[in-house]
Amino acid sequence: MPFHSMTILFHGPSGSGKDTQVELLVQKYSFENIGTGEMFRKMYSEGDLDAIRAYEYYSKGKFVPNDIVYKMFTKWLEKFDISKDWALVSVVRDIGQVQMLDDLLAAKGRKLDKFVHFTLSEEVAIERRALRWICSNCGSTYHEKYKQEKIKGYCDKCGTILTQRVDDTPEKTKSLLSEYNRTIAPILEEYRNRGILVEVDANPTIEEIHTNVVRVLNL
Ligand SMILES: [Zn+2]
Repeated sequence: MPFHSMTILFHGPSGSGKDTQVELLVQKYSFENIGTGEMFRKMYSEGDLDAIRAYEYYSKGKFVPNDIVYKMFTKWLEKFDISKDWALVSVVRDIGQVQMLDDLLAAKGRKLDKFVHFTLSEEVAIERRALRWICSNCGSTYHEKYKQEKIKGYCDKCGTILTQRVDDTPEKTKSLLSEYNRTIAPILEEYRNRGILVEVDANPTIEEIHTNVVRVLNL
């Protein structure tokens, strides 16, 4: 049987720890971590014209049109090793992007094997976000309880002073979570119908969640 590289899509609300979980898969199982957050930052810094167009939207808090996101994403995917397992993180944020991702993966000779959705309670989301610190330079995230930086207050990767997001308040967390649940519902429905949706409880510790992720992916 020929070797089949997996393509897994990860999604979860803010505070679900999806980035930490994907990092563990990168470290322990050599996954490629492929997300649009880094794509927007990196391609903008490289002067990519579509990234500059995208910036016009998201810098004003507007939704970046699907065609711009996926034009960028097509270029972004060129950077990754096709022979490895791919962890796509939050790259489908709109039902219109489902088909775009299918087409893009098909062009790479791949298909989506699983959609791993992290579910989170309101209480845990509030606690996690309140203790969260971020590097405004490279996008690394830290957490007072779950993922402390080596030198307190400074980014491990680039040394920048860490800051908190202005929107990490309980009220804002609640409204973000309900907005997330509203927008993700039709996307979950689509992947549930395909039989590739797996829900993972994101309320326990990082290690427990990781064990469950490993199990559902048969790693
Ligand atoms: Zn940094």
